[in-house]
Formats: sequence, C-alpha cells, structure tokens
Amino acid sequence: MKMAVRLVLLTFAICRLIVTVGFTVLPTELQSQLSVDNSEVEAASVDFGMLDKGEPLAVMHPGSADDIAQLVRAAYEGGFSVSARGHGHSINGQGLIKRGTKGVVIDMGSKKGVGSVCEKGMYVDVWGGELWINVLKATLQYGLAPMSWTDYLYLSVGGTLSNAGISGQAFHHGPQISNVHQLDVVTGKGEVLTCSEESNSELFHAVLGGLGQFGIITRARIALEPAPQRVRWIRVLYSNFAKFTKDQEYLISVEGNKERLDYIEGFVIVDEGLINNWRSSFFSPSNPVKISSLNKNADGGVLYCLEFTKNYHQHQADSIDQEIEALLIKLDFIPASVFTTDLPYVDFLDRVHKAELKLRSKGLWEVPHPWLNLFVPKSRIVDFDKGVFKGILGNKTSGPILIYPMNKDKWDQRNSVVTPEEDVFYLVAFLRSALDDEALEYLSDQNRRILKFCNDAEINAKQYLPHYTTQQEWMDHFGDRWDQFYSRKMQFDPRRILATGQRIFEFHPHANANAMQ
Ligand code: FAD
Repeated sequence: MKMAVRLVLLTFAICRLIVTVGFTVLPTELQSQLSVDNSEVEAASVDFGMLDKGEPLAVMHPGSADDIAQLVRAAYEGGFSVSARGHGHSINGQGLIKRGTKGVVIDMGSKKGVGSVCEKGMYVDVWGGELWINVLKATLQYGLAPMSWTDYLYLSVGGTLSNAGISGQAFHHGPQISNVHQLDVVTGKGEVLTCSEESNSELFHAVLGGLGQFGIITRARIALEPAPQRVRWIRVLYSNFAKFTKDQEYLISVEGNKERLDYIEGFVIVDEGLINNWRSSFFSPSNPVKISSLNKNADGGVLYCLEFTKNYHQHQADSIDQEIEALLIKLDFIPASVFTTDLPYVDFLDRVHKAELKLRSKGLWEVPHPWLNLFVPKSRIVDFDKGVFKGILGNKTSGPILIYPMNKDKWDQRNSVVTPEEDVFYLVAFLRSALDDEALEYLSDQNRRILKFCNDAEINAKQYLPHYTTQQEWMDHFGDRWDQFYSRKMQFDPRRILATGQRIFEFHPHANANAMQ
C-alpha cells in the first residue's frame, strides 16, 4: 500500500478513536502502529470457533512492551478496552473486543521473538505473542525443549499461559503454567512489571491461567529440558470403561524416570468406521482398523483408545522395545489391539499440524467449532461415561473426543485457573466441527445437554477455556476462588479494560476506578 494512503488510514484510525471514545490525546508514537485496514479489522473480529463476533476500532501492531503499555494507559484514561490477540484460536470470542463495545485489538503475533536460550539456567525468554512451534524450533538448536505442551503448537505463548496449556505431559510436568519462571506483564493500569514467584508474585500467579484479565504477557521465561530424539507412540483399545480408566490412572501414578511414560492421553470412539480422526493419522491406511471388527463386546457400543509415548535417545533404541513390552503386560486392553509407531520428537509434537493442512486443503478447517472442554473429577468419571459417552452423544460425534487424567498436585493452586477438588481429574474435550447450520445447532444443543447433565448430577465439573455469559455463572465457576479473582481484578485492572471478550466483568467506559469498586 502506498505511504500516502497508509497515512490517511492511520489518521482515520486515530480520528475514529477520538470520535468514538471521546479520547483527546493519543501519543503520536502509537499512530503508526494502529491499523483500520478492513481486512485486518475483519480478521480481528472473529476467532477459530467462528461462533462470536466483535469488531475492534483498530488493530495495533506493537513493536515493544512499552508500546503496549502506552496503548493501555491511553485506554485507561480514554475509556476504551484492549484485547491481546495471540493466534485467535479461542472458541467463544475470548480474544475479541466484546460485541457492542469500543476497543483496540493488539495483534501480539505481529512481533516475533524467541530470545537467546540460557543453557546454564535451562530456560528461554520469549515474546508473549510467539507461537509454541517457533519456541520449539529455536530451543532444539541447543538440544533443549520445553517440557509441557499443548497438542497443537500454532498457539501463542501468552494465549495458552492465560488458560493453562495442557497435553499428555501434564500428568507429570503439570500444565504449561507450572513451567514458567518469570513474566513481563503490562497491567490494566499500563505499568510494565516483571514478576515471578519471588517478585510481584501476586501478579505472577494472577496472570497464569488468568484469562487475560490482569495484564498482557509480553515476555515469558520458559523452563527447558534436554530434548529427546525419538518417540515410541502406542495406542491400545478398550471396550470396558472401568479397565480403561484404571489403566490410565495407574500410568499417571507411576514414578521413576525409567518406568514413567512421557505422554498419556486417550480418546473415545463412538462412531462407526475407522478409528483415525483429524488429530492425527496414526493407523496406517494399508491396515485400516474397523471398529465393527473390534467392538462385538463393546460396552454400550463405545470403544476407548489409550495412547501413550516413551521418549528416547538413539543410543537407547535397543532397550525401548523391552521397556514397552514390560509395560504393556501390566495393562488390561483388548488383546491384539496394540498399534505402534515411532517418529522423531518434533514430528510427534507437531502431529496435529499435518491434520490441519489436510483439513484446510478440503475447506474443513475454517468452519464453526462448538468445542467444549471439561475437567471432570475422577470420582464421577464413570457417571460421566454412562450419562454422556453412552447416553447424550448418540453414535455420531463430528470430531475427536479426548479423555485423559491429570494429577492435581502438579497444578499450583496460587494460579488463577480452577480445577475440581480431587487429587486426580480428567480432561474431557469435545473437539467437534459443524459443517452446516443444522450441525451447529445439533452440537451446540448437545453441549448444553452435557453441561445440564453435569449440573443435575452434581458432577462438579469445571469448564476449561471457560465460556459464560453472566457474572453469576462466572462466580459459580470460580466458587470460593471468586473473591480472590475479583480482588486481583481490582488491583491490576480496576477499570476492567482488558480482555473484555471473556465477558467476566462488565466494561464501563469512562467510569473511574473508585466508582466501579
Ligand atoms: P487467543 O485466542 O488469541 O487469546 C486467548 C485469550 O488469551 C484471550 O482472552 C486473549 O485476550 C488472551 N491473551 C492472548 N495473548 C495474551 C497475552 N500475551 N497476554 C495476556 N493475555 C493474552 N489448549 C490446550 O491447553 N491444549 C491443547 O492441546 C489445545 N489444543 C488446541 C488445538 C486447536 C486446534 C485449537 C484451536 C485450540 C487448542 N487449545 C488447546 C486451546 C488454546 O490453548 C486456547 O484457545 C488459547 O487461548 C489459544 O491461544 P491463542 O494464542 O490463539 O489465544
């Protein structure tokens, strides 16, 4: 675009902010970073879920944490809101400007930055908008890698740390928020603070799992470990839910580096057909596995697949077979239902991206995603199975359904995220795609029924990546942690200008802090 045209547009952006939010003085340095380009505004108005919309006044491309701080200070004075957008992979508009309100989206991904790796300290400093895939690539240059992951790596560091960041490593390493040493954060008052367990610890714990409510993460110091070279990846099938969960729970309880696995997940199979799903093409096309050939004895027609990995270095290649054999003997899966593959570590971690490319090529990626993620306490997972997998779901799922347990003692209770009050709880993730309006209505209705079932049966499940529309629901979600969440909000973002798309607090333009407390 020609310079002159860009200047006109930028001036327009500033004027639009001035006119619409009644803000009189925006720092001139910010002007060159604001865009009102239609395609950018449009892109920042939607997310991966495609279920909500919220149009910002402008999109900011920051060059530094100080730029963000200036914008937040302007918003603090001027009565508009600010939402950091990582990679826009939320489902329900969490990273958007709340519909019908005025605000600016900060495109965190427009700046890149994986800083140098500290080999001695075993950590790396990264820009908050950086994608995990780039963190992995950079740290592998040093033979190191982060320990806790998400299944998909095209998510931003700030975006996953604002939730928890979980995958099959969480049972041992905890979520990603348990593997961070230090953060730089721009608070809702526009201060730039460095925080850690030792310094500004209230802010540190507030921001981790804090749904973007307390500050914008501009730098995270991530813990690293020596990166393994290869991964042995196993899947085994169960027709009996009690045996499946018993084995999963046993595996997450194993201690000792030699015996312990590196990744434990699982999924539910209720559809007829192949047991592949978009998350990963695992079963070889030349050897397709028909559910109908396995589920003759299936409990309620549902099968469960346990998947786990063992990482290793090339020099351990001779012993890995024996280690896996010794472990499989202890498990109670359907005989002869063992599927094994072996691949480089980076290919394993980046496995979902391959599936993404396939779906994109068929036009099946950019469709609505009415996803639902729940943490279900261990004591009620059997009831959940009966009521949901063998009840509400029917025999058509429209996408993967993950289920795996985690140990609560790996979750720091000072962080903002809430989990069930039991030592072990399960993630159950319904990752479904709606290819038309009818499917969207059907799946959304099913989600509502699942939540109602949990409520009626008093399962005490907690939503992960939560979505509610009233403050009462948010108060119920946080339970006895609500007072702390609220007081942290008053401390770090008293004018409630940050991440309004989460819809936790009402945003009042122009109201002053005291009036709102
Ligand atoms: P966005 O959607 O852009 O933002 C999410 C929230 O965080 C918003 O409120 C936003 O304002 C806030 N935010 C963003 N950046 C910052 C920042 N720098 N500082 C403060 N607040 C910020 N989650 C898992 O835990 N495990 C998984 O395996 C997993 N797999 C996924 C696979 C796919 C295909 C998708 C679409 C999502 C998956 N998720 C998973 C969920 C994902 O972690 C969350 O949706 C996450 O918020 C997405 O990151 P993002 O960078 O796109 O954040």
